[in-house]
Amino acid sequence: MSPASLSVISGAVTVRVPAKINLHLGVGPLRDDGYHDLVTIFQALSLYDDVTVARSAATTVTMSRSGGRGADTESVPLDENNLAVRAARALGEHVGRDPRVSIDIVKRIPVAGGMAGGSADAAGALVALAALWKLDISRAEILELAAGLGSDVPFSVQGGTALGTGRGEQLMPVLARGELHWVLALAREGLSTPKVFAELDRLRENRADEYSGANPRPDALVQALAGGRPQEIAPLLHNDLQPAALSLQPALRRTLRAGIDAGALGGIVSGSGPTCAFLCSGAEDAVAVAAELSGAGVARSVRTAAGPVPGATRKPPEE
Ligand code: ATP
Repeated sequence: MSPASLSVISGAVTVRVPAKINLHLGVGPLRDDGYHDLVTIFQALSLYDDVTVARSAATTVTMSRSGGRGADTESVPLDENNLAVRAARALGEHVGRDPRVSIDIVKRIPVAGGMAGGSADAAGALVALAALWKLDISRAEILELAAGLGSDVPFSVQGGTALGTGRGEQLMPVLARGELHWVLALAREGLSTPKVFAELDRLRENRADEYSGANPRPDALVQALAGGRPQEIAPLLHNDLQPAALSLQPALRRTLRAGIDAGALGGIVSGSGPTCAFLCSGAEDAVAVAAELSGAGVARSVRTAAGPVPGATRKPPEE
């Protein structure tokens, strides 16, 4: 049954949640608690998962790919470990409600792709359940619950363009003028976020003399985003995790080169990878770059997306 018909029959609620990329990702030294201090600029892009919740006799989660395309969902747990289920349990506990609901996810965000797909589903479940249960809950409470579920979950709730500090969960909106046009190269195999951080720690240990641990705010990029000129933004894209992602998946070097050869202004590994994001000078250029990159055979699939877009947003029930 489609989410739309579900919504008519049972008062189900569907929330659409965007993927994120990191335009800047600065990683500080490993902390005693096992995390790293991050300084990051997130941007939410027009590539979405849809999360539909409805009352049910038991807590269940299903996941489908949009039209048979989209993300690889086989590796995603459909039990208590699913991040959307964890979000339902956390919200139920917080407000003292029985969290028995069905959760149906239409997945388009690549799994283990460095685009916060799991976090998006957690954010979607929080916002959808708050609506289903008609909760009188503040945005701040939702964001606090979101932070308890994962570092990227608050941004998935919030969307737009934002500076993230701490583990990435402390957010401040960043002014980004206009719309940026991106091409995304989705890789054939995912990368585990903890493994990429561990690889960065290993690389840094080997060259500790070069690595100061300083992690400054990306002021030049913040200024360029306010100006809205992609030509000025592109050279300022930066990701400290990129060398670690490239070390674990050397083929990504070819992908990054192919994007630039295809005419992108700049390219970067998104978060912990392996998705590569290429900034283009406009919507038409993005379509041309995507076509050429598809032909280069360096990615599982290639798509265009624009940003910034809003965070988790309720979809109106369809007729
Ligand atoms: P990030 O960019 O936040 O580091 P990611 O995009 O690289 O994350 P995810 O797609 O969020 O990676 O998946 C990370 C892991 O979480 C996967 O191994 C997956 O099995 C697990 N997971 C649990 N629930 C979900 C979910 N609803 N969607 C996707 N992955 C999930």
